[in-house]
Amino acid sequence: MTSNVFPALGRLPDLARAGIDGLRTTDPDLYRMLEAEYRRQTDTLVMVASCSVVDPSVLVCSASPAVNVTAEGYPGRRFHAGCAQVDEIEQLAIDRACALFGARYANVQSHSASVANEAVLAALMRPGDPLLGMELRQGGHLTHGAPASMSGQLYDAHGYGLGPDGGIDYDQVRSIAHQVRPKVIVCGATAYPRAVDFRRFREIADEVDAMLIADISHIAGLVAAGRHQNPIDHAHLTTTCTHKQLFGPRGALILSGRDWDRPVGGTTLAARIQRAIFPLFQGAPAVNTIAAKACALGRCATPAFAELAGRIADDARALADAFGRLGYTVVSGGTDNHIVLLDLTPLGISGLVAEKALESAGIIVNKNHIPADPRPSAVTSGLRIGTNTLAARGARPADMSRCAGLADRVLRAVQPVDDRDHVLDPCIRAEVNAEVVELCRAWPLPGYPAG
Ligand SMILES: *Cc1c(COP(=O)(O)O)cnc(C)c1O
Repeated sequence: MTSNVFPALGRLPDLARAGIDGLRTTDPDLYRMLEAEYRRQTDTLVMVASCSVVDPSVLVCSASPAVNVTAEGYPGRRFHAGCAQVDEIEQLAIDRACALFGARYANVQSHSASVANEAVLAALMRPGDPLLGMELRQGGHLTHGAPASMSGQLYDAHGYGLGPDGGIDYDQVRSIAHQVRPKVIVCGATAYPRAVDFRRFREIADEVDAMLIADISHIAGLVAAGRHQNPIDHAHLTTTCTHKQLFGPRGALILSGRDWDRPVGGTTLAARIQRAIFPLFQGAPAVNTIAAKACALGRCATPAFAELAGRIADDARALADAFGRLGYTVVSGGTDNHIVLLDLTPLGISGLVAEKALESAGIIVNKNHIPADPRPSAVTSGLRIGTNTLAARGARPADMSRCAGLADRVLRAVQPVDDRDHVLDPCIRAEVNAEVVELCRAWPLPGYPAG
């Protein structure tokens, strides 16, 4: 009987068990740290907008023997032997990425979205060329032209921002574009609670003959599930990380739709991107991570994921409403995606103080700039809160007033010493933390044994 069952499982379970046993006996310190991190994740309410939680099946891909393969190049065109299986794995990831987003071209090798963005910019521009992206302080990403990143140092970067309603000021985008004639316009954001109109960005890009890159790192799950406009055929290229809303491993995808074979620099756009990732920016791909991307992308194509993505957005709207009812200033007045941005100015506490006080009670969020924030980025005046992990744990819109209420009890009680330090009544901290732990028991991380 067993011989019919176990051959189907193969040797991976034994390998995983041997790895756990070996780590525990040969490196108990590291084992203890990893166990402690596991416990931290199960016993805190993670509401960091850039976080999600991968399924154990995705974890297992990351830890599979595919990690041992050196596979410089692309499927069918490697610089090393022994790549037949990993060719299949990478092709599967490519096919699933194209199917999920309706793309004609996908590169699944980039190690992070930052690398993907820098590679895409390098493929399309020369140093000194004008670039137009969303200002970091208005919600854009470092790699969209901020001075601290290569994108801001290598190119002549210009920024657009928000209008008075907290939405992107498309008229400003158009007028700056006509003024600076950028080679590339980047849209998409890292701390922007509203929907992005990719069609409108493409109209502007076409007016000034610029290439359009849509970076959907934060909203890729909503796009995949049809809950946000899909940029694939509006942007020339779409980039996304795989570890935020796709619930996958740390890494990224570069995608293209109808413009994939458009001529660029004597070749096609797709061929140009292939070379930009390897060999311009990276060496051999992390094949184990590509397997994990394939696994996550497969899960994103299921009805269960569509339901989850819908609930992520519904939860966020309910959370924004709940904070509004508690008297908080919600930036832009609400949300269209998974992000709720709070302006803490009326409370008189910095984002850093709020973040630290909440963490001490088991609520994990991150400090964030608000529009026109006077404080530096290590301090800020706002909080960014996201619903990816809460929704994955099973939380529903009706549960959001309880989550907002827990955060409110801490934020109302916290006494700032200055912008960095605070005092919090230990009784309130303990009370809130006890409720957080109770909620974490009621909403276990899906697939992660607790206890
Ligand atoms: C998080 C993020 C990135 C960077 O992703 P990494 O994989 O961490 O480098 C890029 N762009 C946007 C819009 C992001 O939100």
